[in-house]
Amino acid sequence: MRQYELIERVQHYKPDVNESLLNRAYVYAMRKHGAQKRVSGDPYFSHPLEVAAILTDMHLDEATIAVALLHDTIEDTSATRDEIDQLFGSEIGHLVEGLTKLKKLDFVSKKAVQAENLRKLLIAISQDVRVLLVKLADRLHNMRTLDVMSEDKRHRIAEETMDIYAPLAGRMGMQDVCEELEDLAFRCIKPEAWWAIKVSLTVLLKRNMDLLATIEEDLTSLFAGRGIIAHVKSRQKKAWSVFRKMETKGLSFEQLSDIFGFRVIVDSVEDCYRALGVIHTTWSVVPGRFKDYISIPKQNDYRSIHTTIVGPSHQRVELQIRTREMDEVAEYGVAAHSGYKDRGSDTPTRKRSSETNAYAWLRRTVQALSEGDSPEEFLEHTKLELFRDQVFCFTPKGRLIALPIKAIAIDFAYAVHTDVGDSCIGVKINGRVMPLMTQLKNGDEVEILRSQVQIPPSAWESLVVTGKARMAIRRATRSAVRKQYSGFGERILEQTFGRMGKNFSRDDLKPVLSRLSRNDIDDILASVGQGELSSAEVAKALYPDYNDSRPVHKRQVKSGENNIRNVSGLTFRVQKNQESKTWNGIGTPEIESVYSGRVLPIRGISEGIPVQFSPEGAVPGDQIVGIQQPEVGIIIYPIQSPSLAAYDDQPGRWIDVRWDIDVKMSKRFPAKIRVITVNSPGSLAEVAQIIAKNDANIRNLSVVKTALDFAEMIIDLEVWDLKHLNKTIAQLKRIRLVSSACRVNA
Ligand code: MN
Repeated sequence: MRQYELIERVQHYKPDVNESLLNRAYVYAMRKHGAQKRVSGDPYFSHPLEVAAILTDMHLDEATIAVALLHDTIEDTSATRDEIDQLFGSEIGHLVEGLTKLKKLDFVSKKAVQAENLRKLLIAISQDVRVLLVKLADRLHNMRTLDVMSEDKRHRIAEETMDIYAPLAGRMGMQDVCEELEDLAFRCIKPEAWWAIKVSLTVLLKRNMDLLATIEEDLTSLFAGRGIIAHVKSRQKKAWSVFRKMETKGLSFEQLSDIFGFRVIVDSVEDCYRALGVIHTTWSVVPGRFKDYISIPKQNDYRSIHTTIVGPSHQRVELQIRTREMDEVAEYGVAAHSGYKDRGSDTPTRKRSSETNAYAWLRRTVQALSEGDSPEEFLEHTKLELFRDQVFCFTPKGRLIALPIKAIAIDFAYAVHTDVGDSCIGVKINGRVMPLMTQLKNGDEVEILRSQVQIPPSAWESLVVTGKARMAIRRATRSAVRKQYSGFGERILEQTFGRMGKNFSRDDLKPVLSRLSRNDIDDILASVGQGELSSAEVAKALYPDYNDSRPVHKRQVKSGENNIRNVSGLTFRVQKNQESKTWNGIGTPEIESVYSGRVLPIRGISEGIPVQFSPEGAVPGDQIVGIQQPEVGIIIYPIQSPSLAAYDDQPGRWIDVRWDIDVKMSKRFPAKIRVITVNSPGSLAEVAQIIAKNDANIRNLSVVKTALDFAEMIIDLEVWDLKHLNKTIAQLKRIRLVSSACRVNA
């Protein structure tokens, strides 16, 4: 780009541009960089010039453009701050110096250094947001020309871009810059994934070209017919956001429905709502997708109406409706704010009457800085706010791992490397051994303990929050789960055959493989174990005259009979079947050692495997896991149970289970609570009364401790679900004599 072209660009949006300033900056920077070359071999000056050009796209004032031209002079040439002050004024000198300092910051380093650097970055930005605008344009141009760098350097720059600069651009509302940075970084960090998605996107675009044009025309003429002047343009999701969506939702490319969208740009806010009305009365709306960011703007000042409809050719069409001004803010964020354009000699902060949300956030953040937290504390507080939906943790070597909020240690392990995830058996968080399902916090140092004989348990799949971890676990456990179920299947068949007075051996199954349409013996066993194939079917295939003549075990009981049964030292719960007023035994050896029907409404456990609840109980609404207990079966624990820590190193015993609750079902579930009351004769009675009033059953009650003033009791309740349990606890807390009531192990 030539000198006059740059001036023309600025003139285009700012007719009274200070030409002299731009000309002087151009010539000065060109002269200072002289014969310097970029790594690519291009003259160095092409870089600051391109950075300036990027900023003209955002319609920034000539001071910012001049700073862009000068941004590398102090660092890379003989230019000094004093000289720039003299030639261009101290405001520009100050900005150029700010950028020079930022250049030395490194965000791919030890966490204390990173924190300190982020703090410097934010302070520099908050003094004048134009520092950030130039820095982001600088980074954007460097990312666009990344290919010439060495592999190592490329990765470092791309990671830093993904971790710091792209989110910062997003936080400042600069959508276009944010998306382009993400995409360029993604391309470098995961080239194969980037290519695969890029190719799919191109193919998809080609296939839908006509359709998109049709929708565009339909919409435009529809609006015109109602007197709304609208500019409609289609847009395609960027590779990175496609990838992120596939990751977080665990979807394949084909399953994504919102790759294409349309932007409807109108003249006024009123027209936004009129256009919305037209759309909603013409096509059917996809429920749950309507969002009004005009009345409630996003944190970064983004305003728009979002809706999704079933379009003219029966496919989902995502629409964003906004005014021209909103569109500008959506694309350029803080840079679009009038305070940074047509500025007089005032600093932008003073000039603007109404502060943007994004800027207010920055100001608050920097205010917190001056309160003098330690760098680590600062990292915790500020990054948390900056990356609202992410947590930042570190490997012991100081590598920064960014994860979505609520990520657990297992997610961390998979984020480091799939092998690390697959072999992880424990975790130390900030030096302490913790359960693997611990949710990570900002600044945690996470050390993954590994074992090569480990197979990730399938239960992890429902615990992790990252798509990467979920996919890897699914892959690694599929075969392991199969193996585990085949063991169960074998046991079931042994018992079935035993009842028939026959011996069972695996090889017996060989002749019936094709009859049962299974590939191998393990496949049959696993199918039986998983409940896909019943033992009766297998028996029939082997012995055609087999008939299933097992008696159905039901036992009449009077209501009120103790429903706890103690068999050979193990306590088994007996389930009450409300409708038929009978009791079904679960896993009670004297009834039948292998239970023949599923009584507990829990998915993920195959037929024939005894199930019981952990001593602390579990109720619908709890997230649950099953632990395989040899000789006993599967024990169901609520996920928050501390007892689970004991099985952390035995992932093979974890079974992925879920509630399978039918609204018509009336079953009660066990839960243990601890109640501390004033030690007075009336308190026990009152506790019991409240529980009864709440329609909860007391299965067992023991007073575990009595002091002079207080009594502590443990109560085994039977409740409908978590809501019922919580309501009961809340009611107990309201009793005057009760000093505390809470769930045990909650
Ligand atoms: Mn630069």
